[in-house]
Amino acid sequence: MKVLNYIDGRWVSSVSNRFVPIVNPANGECIGEVTISNEQDVEQAVLAAKRAQKAWALVPAPKRAEVLYKVGMLLQERKEQMARLLTMEMGKVIEEARGEVQEGIDMAFYMAGEGRRLFGDTTPSELPNKFAMSVRAPIGVVGLITPWNFPIAIATWKSFPAIVAGNAVVWKPALETPIMAQQLAQIFEEAGLPNGVFNVVHGRGSVVGEALVEHRDVKVISFTGSNEVGRRIAETCGRHLKKVSLEMGGKNAIIVMDDADVALAVEAIIWSAFGTSGQRCTACSRVIVHEHVKKQVEERLLAAISTLTVGNGLEEGIKVGPVINQDALQKIHHYVQIGRNEGATLLAGGYMLQDEPYKGGFYYAPTLFTNVTPTMRIAREEIFGPVTSIISVRSLEEAIEVNNSVDYGLSSAIFTRDIHRAFTAIRDFDTGIVYVNAGTTGAEIHLPFGGTKGTGNGHRDSGVAALDVFTEWKSIYVDY
Ligand code: NAD
Repeated sequence: MKVLNYIDGRWVSSVSNRFVPIVNPANGECIGEVTISNEQDVEQAVLAAKRAQKAWALVPAPKRAEVLYKVGMLLQERKEQMARLLTMEMGKVIEEARGEVQEGIDMAFYMAGEGRRLFGDTTPSELPNKFAMSVRAPIGVVGLITPWNFPIAIATWKSFPAIVAGNAVVWKPALETPIMAQQLAQIFEEAGLPNGVFNVVHGRGSVVGEALVEHRDVKVISFTGSNEVGRRIAETCGRHLKKVSLEMGGKNAIIVMDDADVALAVEAIIWSAFGTSGQRCTACSRVIVHEHVKKQVEERLLAAISTLTVGNGLEEGIKVGPVINQDALQKIHHYVQIGRNEGATLLAGGYMLQDEPYKGGFYYAPTLFTNVTPTMRIAREEIFGPVTSIISVRSLEEAIEVNNSVDYGLSSAIFTRDIHRAFTAIRDFDTGIVYVNAGTTGAEIHLPFGGTKGTGNGHRDSGVAALDVFTEWKSIYVDY
């Protein structure tokens, strides 16, 4: 499979004519190749988007939305095929891949509905014979930069609101997952989106991503990825006074109080820590446990981990797939060494799986640390792998303090049967998403998604809040 750029409605290889392999992380096999673009390709895509956006903005929003309904139907038709490609490309187990494509479908229909809303306000004027109102106006060409861990869902969270609001898109997907980008572009093409409204340029972040961020005709950057890259993008956007939405990492915690349903909590921890092999921004990488139930939580977690089947995510029944690549494997293992050196107790895992049947793939055993303290690096830094750490506390106040002590603020959860404790946590957890008696993952697309502190800069993906990223408010006064 040869993956090309999609610019102005045409499938083209980069002017560089260079390609790199696309690797299946389950077995290391090459499943295709993708074109590696440069600044010239970005220039062409932005030019095409700029031209197309003017006409697209004049299409009434309910008509723009009709394309999204078609996109939703095509995604639905291809759900299984796309889920299988997704698993082959980035490794998450097939059940999760189906769930991810479903998120794209839900987002298409939800955002299509926004075409008939896109609400502004009418307000009373302070003067007689004057009418005052505000409308959402499109911004122009928007640049999307996305990670590999949710290669289809995140693209839909960003591109659907951008397009329904009347913008044109230039998207730089992660180099690890170009096939999903190709699938989405094909669907837009078949759904009848005018040429140039949606463009895809593949390549390295340091080349294509930076060119997009620097480009003067790109008026908004919507980025999801690591904190390090996000900060860099923010600096460039700051220099250009360019609007930027940043969705970055997490160090999410599940708090288990002494009155919790421990079985329920353990089920949620397993799914939140080891789903997508821990490679989620919302992954539970800290388990903050009341000391009275610590032993019980440890024992139950160990029992549950021993039943997790690791392997190729295409096989039904596999619970934990590979991680994305060799670098990720090394990074995860490095963090495990750090944890050991810091004095944490390794209860499970802590090693790569490299012999048959794992040969060639990038597998890491589900890993559990205990006796972790809040200041250890494994309790503060994003590991982005199947590793979680138990931290013991004596009270709800301490649990809240530990939860809030990290630099990230994406998602957190509390397990308790006490309504007062639950609402105290809802009030005091400094994260963009809070769960009560549920794991840290599994957000719904019609609620705002994002976080505080090192996770984001106040914008949100998903929900109506996403429209705030891709529109400008225009206030209008009519004297009559
Ligand atoms: P990454 O930051 O390495 O890459 C993200 C994207 O940025 C890629 O497309 C990459 O090519 C591009 N990029 C890299 N350098 C760039 C530069 N200098 N200029 C412009 N673009 C550049 O992240 P990743 O490894 O792909 O993804 C994992 C990270 O994403 C984790 O930190 C995870 O928590 C985060 N994430 C956050 C959310 C969220 O909604 N908060 C969701 C998913 C993933």
